[in-house]
Formats: sequence, C-alpha cells, structure tokens
Amino acid sequence: MTRHALVALIISALVVAAPLAQKNAPAKPGGNAKLDALKQEAVADVESRTQFAQQMVDQIFSYGELGFQEFETNRYLIDILKKNGFAVQEGIADIPTAFMATWGSGKPVIALGSDIDCIPQASQKPAVAWHEPMIEGAPGHGEGHNSGQAVNITAALAVKKIMEREKLPGTIRIWTGTAEELVGTKAYFVRAGFFKDVDIALFTHVGENLDVSWGERAGNGLVSVQYSFVGETAHAAANPWRGRSALDAVELMDIGWNFRREHLRLSQRSHNVITDGGDQPNVVPRTASVWYYFRETDYPHIKELWETGDTMAKAAAMMAGVDLLPTKVLGSAWPQHFNKVVAETTWANIQKVGLPQWSDEDQQLAKALQKELKNPRAEGLRTKLSDGLQGPVRENTGGGSDDIGDISWNVPTVTLRYPSNIPGLPGHNWANAISMATPIAHKGVIAGAKVQAMTLLDLVSRPELVEQAWKYFKDVQTKETKYEALIRPQDTPAIWLNKATMDKYRPEMKKYYYDPSRFKNYLEQLNIKYPTVRTTAP
Ligand SMILES: [Zn+2]
Repeated sequence: MTRHALVALIISALVVAAPLAQKNAPAKPGGNAKLDALKQEAVADVESRTQFAQQMVDQIFSYGELGFQEFETNRYLIDILKKNGFAVQEGIADIPTAFMATWGSGKPVIALGSDIDCIPQASQKPAVAWHEPMIEGAPGHGEGHNSGQAVNITAALAVKKIMEREKLPGTIRIWTGTAEELVGTKAYFVRAGFFKDVDIALFTHVGENLDVSWGERAGNGLVSVQYSFVGETAHAAANPWRGRSALDAVELMDIGWNFRREHLRLSQRSHNVITDGGDQPNVVPRTASVWYYFRETDYPHIKELWETGDTMAKAAAMMAGVDLLPTKVLGSAWPQHFNKVVAETTWANIQKVGLPQWSDEDQQLAKALQKELKNPRAEGLRTKLSDGLQGPVRENTGGGSDDIGDISWNVPTVTLRYPSNIPGLPGHNWANAISMATPIAHKGVIAGAKVQAMTLLDLVSRPELVEQAWKYFKDVQTKETKYEALIRPQDTPAIWLNKATMDKYRPEMKKYYYDPSRFKNYLEQLNIKYPTVRTTAP
C-alpha cells in the first residue's frame, strides 16, 4: 500500500466512524441525562392517566362502528382533543369520519395515528371466553381498533405537558386510521397532502406483544375493486330468453378467477364477496356486483393482478351478454416498509418499559379462550419481549395488509404493536374482541402509551434522529422504489360503505354505549364477572 492510499484509508475510516460516535454520544453535556429524566416523568404521567385511557378504550369498544361510519367515535375523540388544546380539522380528504388534530408549533412535526373501525359480525361480550354476541349479527371490535387512539392520546398529553414547560419546539398531530378494514382512507390523506410537512409518523396497532420492526414487513399490499354488471330483466320462467343476467357475469368472472388462481404467484391473496346478486329468482337479475381484494407483495404485482381481474370481468360480460360498468376502487394499500432509525429508537424504549404485569385473572381469560378455540397449546398472555428488534422479512409469503403502507412510503414511519390482545386468535373474529374491554387491553394500552411518549420525547429532543430517519428513507428505502398511488385520479373515498349495516344495528347498539359517569368500567356496566370462563368442558 502506498503512503497516499494509507492516508486515504485512514481518512475514510474517520469519516465513517464520526457519525457513529456522534450517534452514541450525548447531544450536549448532560443532554441524555436530562432526556432520561423527562422520559421518566412522562412514564409516570402516563401511569397517572390510567383511568382516562381505560375510559377511552371502553367507550370506543361500546360504539363498535364499521369503516366510514365511525361518527360517534369521531365526535368523542374530537371533543377530547379540543378539550386538551388541539386544533382539529374535521372531515379531512372528503371523509366525514376522519380528522387531523394539531398542537404545538415548529419542527419536528410528529404524526400519531391509529385505526378506529371495527369488524362485521364480531359483536361479543367482553371478558366472556366463548362466543356470546352482545347483539346477534352486529359489528364489534374483533380487531381491537378501539384501543390505539388511547395509546396515542395518552402519550401525547403527557409529552405536551413537558414540551410546554420546557418550551420544546415541535408539533404533535393526531389522526385517525378511518375505515382501515376497507383500506379506505390513508392513500386519500396522502393525495390530499396531509403528510407533506410531517417529519415522522408513529403509528400504533394492537398486537399480542410490545413490538416494532423495520424494513419490508411480511404481508401484502392490495387494491379493492368493485365490478358491477347490467343486463335486462325478464320473466325467468315464461321468457328467460328475453333476459340477460348480470349475475351470470359475476359467477362467470368468479369461475374464471378461480381457474386462474392455480397459475398465480404463491404470495398472492385474492377473495371476493357478491354485494349484489339480484332481487328474486323469478326475475332475471338486471344488476349484479362483485367486490374483490387483489393482494400482492409489491406495486407491480398488485397492478398485474388487478389487470387480470379486469380481463376476467370484461370476458365474463361478453359471455353473459351484459355490460360492465366503469369499475370502482373502494380501497388500496401499499405494502408496508418501516423506518430503521425510528424502529431502533422505539425498540430501545420498549426494552425500558417491558411487558405489563398480568394478573391471574388476565391469564385465566387468555388460557380459557385459547382452549375454547382448540389451540394446540393454551399458553396464555406473552410474558417475554421478542429476542431482538425485528428486521426485514426474509421471504415474504404474503398475508394481511394495512394502508399505513401508503404513509410509510411518504414519510419515515413505524407501527408500534402493544399487547392488548390474546395470542393465537383467528383475527377479524368475535374472539379478538373478548380482551378488548378488559384489564388486558387497558394494561397493554398503558404500556404502549409509555413507549410512544418516550419515543416522542426522543424525536423532539434529538433532531439528529429525524435527520438519520430521512437519510434511511431517501438513501435506502426509496432509492429504487418510488411511491405511486394505487387509487386513480377519478377514485374518491367509498364513504357510503357500511351505512346500511350501521343503520340497521345502531339503534340497538346505542342501548349499550358505555356511560363512564355511572360505571367505573364497561364490564361493571354490563355486569360481567372478570373473567367469565367455562367451569365444565364445552
Ligand atoms: Zn387492524
């Protein structure tokens, strides 16, 4: 090696080492000690808001509103935020049940989001370890979306108090993952520019452990498309040859799709429901509609799947001799990719907070439900954090979706998972609602809020973190992949969805809304013993 090369090597080593040293060293003398003290204070403050968080979790559980119909939930959250000094923009992006709340000023702008909608047919008495609907057929929080806003708002209020006193610059935004079960809104928030000035998005979602990850997440993105056909009615017995059945087109499209399914990639998921199958058998169906979710692991493959669906629909219309109307996109989601720097920051806080102390009653409920569902092992609730911070998925074999993916490709984002649910459940099911208005959910939310508060303090006190997060976003995540919305210019939010279902069930559900002025918690109001488990085998 020449002397010249040696000098160059030393210089490059120094250049590489410098940012690392900077990252580990306190920002200024005593800086980290002060930050640690503020974090401790925030954790204690969150703890003191236990009842506030519990009421929020129970209240939203009792509303049980489906996507795009979260009117009670929305009103309730907006009132809380306004009362606590947030300015609230209501009905954002032409979605009546969405809002963006803001407090503070200047940089960084940190946006805290979580979903609020529930699941069809998931009505369930909380704390009862078998299927027992509150109202037969009604929707319910069988995904646990009643708990995430409590995580964010509790954390935000604790941090806001500290920021005010310490005169820390920064803006806290709180927003709703409206109609997440329809992946119906986040792409529209992006299109309307609501994340343009956001520095970091901290999302949170219920889980069975306290967890965060970075890089590509296991699962799919998707596009949700409605195909509607129009034919002609006729007497189905007297003159069937005069009619053209739109339902025939729906059925032919589904048959075509199911044959093609054999030749699709292993990572795809696709499923449909027939939302209009005609009126009555003696009238040839003039109209019929089928609603598809096309899921794949990346944007080009989602588009390809969608094109195949369009071809099937056109061909089916030709076979049935009916017309295919212009298709409607009802929702979309990009695959999720989370930020490494923000995940590392969050993970450090997770390790400090740790899992909640579960009581014997909590574990009894969890084990009884796992047994009820015939899980191979009834392990109860998690008592150990995962071994380390989870990185990118190794082999993505596909799975669920969340339109937080769209945000994650526009702003450095992570999803914090907090342990408010019981492990080993089917998902989108009554079983997933059982813990969601019990001490399990309440404790999980407080653990999540502590982490969220600490991470917020990290981000407002250490500007270098925001800078490094954007460096990862620009140089690694979006180096080759650029965001292109799946929604088309002509698409608008599908805000009519679920209206009929909520109109049907809401009057009965209203009788069970939680009244915190009379009852300490929702279980007390419902007069349910905690836990209610079988004493004999089912
Ligand atoms: Zn969800």
